[in-house]
Amino acid sequence: MVKLLDCTTELVQTRNNERRPIAFVPTMGNLHAGHISLLEKALTEFEVVYFSIFVNPKQFGPNEDFARYPRTLEQDLKLIEDVARKFPKAEVIVYAPKDTREVYPPGEEQSVTVLGITTMLEGAKRPGHFDGVTTVVHRLFELIKPKRAYFGLKDYQQYVVVKQMVKDLYMPIEIIGMPTIREASGLALSSRNQYLSAPEREEALTLSRGLQDVAKFLGGKKININKARARAEELKKDPRWNYLEIRSAEDLDHDLTNHSAAVLLGVFQLGTTRLLDSLVVEIE
Ligand code: AMP
Repeated sequence: MVKLLDCTTELVQTRNNERRPIAFVPTMGNLHAGHISLLEKALTEFEVVYFSIFVNPKQFGPNEDFARYPRTLEQDLKLIEDVARKFPKAEVIVYAPKDTREVYPPGEEQSVTVLGITTMLEGAKRPGHFDGVTTVVHRLFELIKPKRAYFGLKDYQQYVVVKQMVKDLYMPIEIIGMPTIREASGLALSSRNQYLSAPEREEALTLSRGLQDVAKFLGGKKININKARARAEELKKDPRWNYLEIRSAEDLDHDLTNHSAAVLLGVFQLGTTRLLDSLVVEIE
């Protein structure tokens, strides 16, 4: 069963009448197989799944794509219903606030900031972005009080930042990172892919291929971090790379000593579209 709620009062009432443990999947909508994989995982683990669809203005910079970000609620609900049908006992509560004020009541100014890891990589390129993310995720966590919440590892830094927030604030919520769903070509699914022209879609493959290319030096028995870094530097001569970095998967540190996994984080720019991808590689 799928139930749509478009106001926060209703959300809180529904939530507070629920005694079963709750899973939560936060999204900005315009759903694709990546989002759906999160929902399916949640439904295999919980009977009750809250799923939010909210294009959060606070995480967009002034010159970013907030206004043109695709909003496709009807289509999204159909996809959710298709998945929910496979889980006859399940209940999916879709929270799609009809107005930004449902999430940010006027006059109520609160912000949640994680320091440190939010100023590097994506945070350095998009100042304030992660404050927007943690502010909305914190608010949704407070309203929904889930036991477990599901995030995609494509947005790797976001996943680390949310985990850090939950740890810092002692929120009793488990954060689950889910593998990136890709097209057969390797391109990570993203709502922003639809901004790309046909030739740009071809060029976009440079992103996932670049990550794979660098990962070759890190996987297997012959790990060579220096060679991997040198390869990344070589690739970055192409100015379409915003960044391409090798960090520790745990805390995004430069230094990989004493870490068992690395993460490659890349952003590739095509026209006005920034495509983001990442790849986790075991290094032990
Ligand atoms: P968004 O709607 O872009 O904010 O994404 C909502 C959630 O879906 C985030 O946790 C994303 O990391 C996740 N997500 C987006 N794209 C993918 C993908 N291709 N595979 C898996 N998860 C994804």
